[in-house]
Amino acid sequence: MKIIEHINKAKGTLFSFEILPPLKGESINSIYNAIDGLLEFNPSFIDVTYHRQEYILKKRKDGSFDRIATKKRPGTVAICAAIQNKYNIDAVPHLICGGFTKEDTENALIDLHFLGIDNVLALRGDALRTERSFVPEEAGNSNALELIHQIENMNSGIYLDEELSNAHVTDFCVGSAGYPEKHADAPNKHSDMKFLKRKVAAGAEFIITQMFFDNKGFFEFVDACRENGINVPIIPGIKPIATKKQLQVLPNVFNIEIPVELSNKVEACANNGEVRQIGIDWAINQCKELIEAKVPVLHFYTMGKVSSTKAICSEIFK
Ligand code: FAD
Repeated sequence: MKIIEHINKAKGTLFSFEILPPLKGESINSIYNAIDGLLEFNPSFIDVTYHRQEYILKKRKDGSFDRIATKKRPGTVAICAAIQNKYNIDAVPHLICGGFTKEDTENALIDLHFLGIDNVLALRGDALRTERSFVPEEAGNSNALELIHQIENMNSGIYLDEELSNAHVTDFCVGSAGYPEKHADAPNKHSDMKFLKRKVAAGAEFIITQMFFDNKGFFEFVDACRENGINVPIIPGIKPIATKKQLQVLPNVFNIEIPVELSNKVEACANNGEVRQIGIDWAINQCKELIEAKVPVLHFYTMGKVSSTKAICSEIFK
């Protein structure tokens, strides 16, 4: 079922979460264990992230290096199919531009369609660690907007091969990312909003936000979206902080701020067990206020570790 249908049918705030494919060489059981731990809260959908190929340098005997391409977390499409098959819960694969030609994208979408997957989160993807800024694949999509256009074309029966006539029409519900605190590459929030508006005009039917720790910024983002004519559901992304290290890592990787009150509390903790509890309490307060504001869904970034999400859901969905 489409995410938009879940939201339209809902009587209150829904629950969803994101998982990462296991590292190469690990079994899918870690995914099942994570999902099993959250089933009691009746997730409406489960997002599965996509991880592009990276390059590592391997030293040769003579001291020179081989540049080796490796995908550390393969399996997004297969995991989505497995989730739908095992749990009958909608799985939302993330589809990125980075590393994909348009032909690769078309074939990935055909796979998803054949597997009965109705939803896709269309993303650009980040720059490789070795690049200063995002470089699209030759003959690939340069940003999420172009990717959405490609998906919407297939939803109208338009494939890359212009000679295909009467091609099968797909019916994907497409989601897009939104950044309450601005995307790292954007010169300002106004510019980000302009492109978000274009993504929605192109067919994005819902927005999932980057994680944030201060609801005020989320509410301001929603207001700005509405003022700019963006009227699709906006789903807040919740990340329970769990380690001291995340005080540096999360702002660095996700371009977000941690409020002073929260960082002070985390810094005062004697160990990560205490940090985890602070993170849970903080997220519970965030979630209660967001539910009161009637957000359509609370979407949790579990990063494969569900114990904090379980503790939060036990409090807010009881
Ligand atoms: P876009 O919408 O393309 O925007 C990227 C930047 O370019 C923005 O600054 C925007 O303002 C600007 N921009 C957009 N269009 C144009 C244009 N035409 N001209 C000039 N500038 C433009 N990454 C992964 O690799 N895998 C994942 O599974 C994944 N999941 C995510 C899930 C969520 C909910 C979120 C919020 C992010 C996720 N990311 C993931 C990270 C995401 O790929 C990065 O944040 C990426 O840098 C931007 O993706 P986007 O889809 O927002 O890009």
